[in-house]
Amino acid sequence: MKVITTIAEMQREILTEKQKGKTIGFVPTMGFLHEGHIGLLKKARQENDILVLSIFVNPLQFGPSEDLDAYPRDFEKDRQIAIQEKTDYIFFPSVDEMYSTSPSVGVIAKERVNVLCGKSRSGHFDGVVTVLTKLFNIIQPTRVYFGLKDAQQVAVVDGLIKDFHFPVQLKAIETVRESDGLAKSSRNVNLTPEERRQAAELYRALELGRSLIKKGETDRLKLIQTIESHLKKTTESTVDYIELYTYPDLKPIEEIKGKVILALAVKFSKVRLIDNIIVDI
Ligand code: AMP
Repeated sequence: MKVITTIAEMQREILTEKQKGKTIGFVPTMGFLHEGHIGLLKKARQENDILVLSIFVNPLQFGPSEDLDAYPRDFEKDRQIAIQEKTDYIFFPSVDEMYSTSPSVGVIAKERVNVLCGKSRSGHFDGVVTVLTKLFNIIQPTRVYFGLKDAQQVAVVDGLIKDFHFPVQLKAIETVRESDGLAKSSRNVNLTPEERRQAAELYRALELGRSLIKKGETDRLKLIQTIESHLKKTTESTVDYIELYTYPDLKPIEEIKGKVILALAVKFSKVRLIDNIIVDI
């Protein structure tokens, strides 16, 4: 496995692999790898000749009030996981390497962004699509792997790939969860033990929503109120949002039918957690 820190060297390696006719599976991450990321690596390993993992905490997707410096990092542990998952290359550039000059062109996410997390994280998805445009040009992947844990991100990336005709196949992978249902996240380390216990209620609330939909509930507001009252009863978190949209278009719905995403975000003392389920009826 090679760890590569410069764009020029990464592009040279990719060119050599492509000349040999190899397919390239790409897993973009911000590091501090856990089983969620490992699920993506395993899938990409199975489906491609070459596996590239990028680790880059992208400053452009953090808002001014979001603490970029507090984002957890552990490169040595990540390197060990990457070796274990038979990764061929880790692309691990510095911020200066990725953004060496002030940009002359920007990439803006226009659709699918003013709902869910995008509503309170202005500019976040512009940062995501900008860094991915750069990474897609550097890595030139055959397939790129994202987790449905960040289902809005998958929807936005789907738009990016289609709009800009990137010759890459988007693979959306199911959320990997702890045994009590909490979605694995690098941010979970910032929960207190009591909050960690309560955090399992997020998935229970979503499952409650799923069973109501399956039983034929079609009233969006009633569904949201039931979930909200479950979270209020069982956690000391503040609900940021509970929303229901079509997926992947993320358009509002009044009556529940077709493929929908039920998503929520709650704030605990030091961390904001998100989770979602996609239900097809
Ligand atoms: P991040 O490092 O948080 O940017 O995440 C990198 C990728 O891992 C994204 O595509 C995430 O959606 C995915 N991911 C994070 N947590 C999970 C999880 N629990 N299950 C599946 N994928 C995940």
